[in-house]
Amino acid sequence: MNWHELGQTDLVKTANTSIEHGLSSKEAKKRLDLHGYNELNEGKKTSSLALFFSQFNDFMVFVLVAATIISGFLGEYVDAAAIIAIILVNGILGFFQERRAENSLQALKELSTPQTLVLREKKWMKIQARELVPGDIIKFSSGDRIGADIRLFDAKSLEIEESALTGESVPVQKQYDPIQANAESLGDLVNMGFMGTLVTRGSGSGVVIGTGMNTAMGKIAHMLEEAGTQQTPLQGRLEQLGKILIVIALLLTVLVVSVGVLQGQNLFQMFLAGVSLAVAAIPEGLPAIVTVALSLGVQRMIKQKSIVRKLPAVETLGCASIICSDKTGTMTQNKMTVTHVWTCGSLWEVTGTGYEPEGEFTANGRPVQVKQNKALQQILLFGALCNSSAIVSEKGKYRLEGDPTEGALLTAASKAGFYSEKIKEQYKIIEEYPFDSARKMMTVIVEDLQNKRFVITKGAPDVLLKKSTCILANNKNEAMSKTRYEEANTSIADLASRALRTIAIAYKPLTGSEIPSVEQAESGLTFFGIQGMMDPPRPEVKQAIKECREAGIKTVMITGDHVITAKAIAKKLNLLPNKGKVIEGQALNKLSVEELAETVEDTYVFARVTPEHKLKIVKAFQEKGHIVAMTGDGVNDAPAIKQADIGISMGITGTDVAKESSSLILVDDNFATIKSAIKEGRNIYENIRKFVRYLLASNVGEILVMLFAMLLALPLPLVPIQILWVNLVTDGLPAMALGMDQPESDVMNRKPRHTKEGIFARGLGWKVVSRGFLIGAVTLAAFMIIYYRNPDNLQYAQTIAFATLVLAQLIHVFDCRSERSIFHRNPFGNLYLIGAVLSSLLLMLVVIYYKPLQPVFHTMDIAAVDWLLVIGLSAIPTFLLAGSLLTRKN
Ligand code: ADP
Ligand code: MG
Repeated sequence: MNWHELGQTDLVKTANTSIEHGLSSKEAKKRLDLHGYNELNEGKKTSSLALFFSQFNDFMVFVLVAATIISGFLGEYVDAAAIIAIILVNGILGFFQERRAENSLQALKELSTPQTLVLREKKWMKIQARELVPGDIIKFSSGDRIGADIRLFDAKSLEIEESALTGESVPVQKQYDPIQANAESLGDLVNMGFMGTLVTRGSGSGVVIGTGMNTAMGKIAHMLEEAGTQQTPLQGRLEQLGKILIVIALLLTVLVVSVGVLQGQNLFQMFLAGVSLAVAAIPEGLPAIVTVALSLGVQRMIKQKSIVRKLPAVETLGCASIICSDKTGTMTQNKMTVTHVWTCGSLWEVTGTGYEPEGEFTANGRPVQVKQNKALQQILLFGALCNSSAIVSEKGKYRLEGDPTEGALLTAASKAGFYSEKIKEQYKIIEEYPFDSARKMMTVIVEDLQNKRFVITKGAPDVLLKKSTCILANNKNEAMSKTRYEEANTSIADLASRALRTIAIAYKPLTGSEIPSVEQAESGLTFFGIQGMMDPPRPEVKQAIKECREAGIKTVMITGDHVITAKAIAKKLNLLPNKGKVIEGQALNKLSVEELAETVEDTYVFARVTPEHKLKIVKAFQEKGHIVAMTGDGVNDAPAIKQADIGISMGITGTDVAKESSSLILVDDNFATIKSAIKEGRNIYENIRKFVRYLLASNVGEILVMLFAMLLALPLPLVPIQILWVNLVTDGLPAMALGMDQPESDVMNRKPRHTKEGIFARGLGWKVVSRGFLIGAVTLAAFMIIYYRNPDNLQYAQTIAFATLVLAQLIHVFDCRSERSIFHRNPFGNLYLIGAVLSSLLLMLVVIYYKPLQPVFHTMDIAAVDWLLVIGLSAIPTFLLAGSLLTRKN
């Protein structure tokens, strides 16, 4: 089909749609059933069966199975069957853990898929791009990714970067008239847009003509590389650690077995015990638990309105020492209302809130008639004409579609009776140069009913003032004199110091029919005046900034707004200390990254910046060794977002490009959400430390009790099946529960963690070794006391050792919840943990007292008095170490 050759009427007919109404939802549903979802087929997931078998694909498990089978042939049926059963249960648990981790990662991926503005049932709405169908009418603007293959029917300064398809990185200028071209040569199809390509400039609308695999992208989909799931640095380090631990565990096992054999133990018994010990001591479950802890944390973050796009960010979040945040919309509400209008010689005030067209104009407290003030009329009218947003009223409610800054201008105009649908009947927009934060201006070229053409520009007042050669005063065009310039400049500062965001409006008549370029249009202007709009801070931000400060994190405001406005808001938020510096974008131009780095520590506000400045700011902070979180929403923010250690994009106002370069998306665009994310990031890391501490100390304890026994020429204190049981039940469940622990009350009172900090830093290594040693020691003590009391009843002594080991670990798990000591936290704070510990206890009692299981687990009923011994001994490590911590001053 040669879509590019069709005129608009044919296009609409062929696609069977309507440019005014879009598709009906019924029709869209029908086409969705017919064409399927608009997505590219992905590579296959690992099948469940393969994942299940991969659980057993481990050398030590093979050895254990082999050893068990041999022991089965030697007549130890019960032992063999029990060991096999435990291996199976272990495998099933591992399988579910990994599936869960995989599924939650997949869910995350889906959360951050792009959305598209589509016309359905005569209404513009946002839907997931995967729901697009052929015939849908979509619109887009700079920063969006095109959701499907389309034929354009409207384009304003539209440029699309199609390198993903054509390899050509220079954006293509698009138009919408029919053309003659070779349909195979995508680069020549300038009136079409393709799925996955990027709008770098302007805006446009089109009819969807191909979706899913039936797009240019679909045809080359098999060539696209799937980005692999990323490992976090910690996961990488733990994997390394795991390898080292395997070697250590194996060496120790060999040691235990050799010593045992030398002491005259039965060779095969010793071998089986050794292999069980190795299986138990090797923390093979660690990576899976880490993934689960990470993804559970990530799910908690989603509830708190932040979506993690790149898993490593979870860890880096905990290290953040600087947050560079946008002001508009992130620290403020982005609900703008024009409250002041200035034209040469007069200042008007406007009442009313929201987007309702209700409000009055006053001057010096007295109501004024807009009709009698030509200048006021003009500036309001032009503010609504040079505007790409719309206010729609639905059932008496007014809703903004577009940019809040522009919405405020539309509302102010409507309060004077200028409604944009009505004025657009009298003025035709011939060309539009969209707003961008580097120029800080937007321009339209307009034709009135008398066919007279003129330019309207709106933008940052200080910028516009410099582009103006005339000024409107007393309803006349005056050449811009020095006094007039100063007058305007003073008013800009005056409005800004009231924390108002300011927009100026300027005008220029055109002669001739030629359409000027942006640069031509935006020069030699006549300055009309300024509208000042209020954008109140979000109420929760002040507190969030304070909490960040207490957590050793500095908040820096970055804004394209006027320096005085920025300062006024920063003061309101308590962000700018008395000696804090404010730097303007212009000054940044002159500084190199190194020079900026020298002053950056005392700087709290960057005003009138362009997106390129943001990159410099990130680099300067990084130069000083900071871990920087940087927010952004526009296309041009992408480099800074990428450069930052934690790139953050806005869920509501963010462009697809910004989202794709970011590692974190703020669903609600709210600064306070960054704080919650950092808190969660710190907590996740601490939780990982908690269960690493627990698991490793347990393993050390298990190995040492065996080693000590062999060295002392004692019989085996634990039989293989008991060791495997401990590994499965006592180690597994509570470790998972630790991964879901709540943060300690002081997580946000500590300094940020150093990125290079190893997992065993801050005394964790010592805690693991000392506690492991003590657990081993008390278990052995319990065993020896009972064994020497009655050497004929080895099985009873082993039961006591088993119970002591389990109990000592289950007490230890509560210690692990705090970096300080067990007494710092309410032990009932983590209900998962209580549940895990109770189930472990219950299962322990079952294998000890349930008669049919006693032969399987080599256990016997424990007498009540001996429980006193078990409980007393297993509590010793906690009290010993807690005591030594209490005496140490912190
Ligand atoms: P920020 O979002 O940080 O406030 P922007 O780059 O969006 O910064 O805006 C910078 C300045 O550009 C504003 O202070 C305002 O004067 C002007 N401006 C903002 N939005 C528009 C727009 N849609 N059209 C024209 N000028 C605008
Ligand atoms: Mg903005």
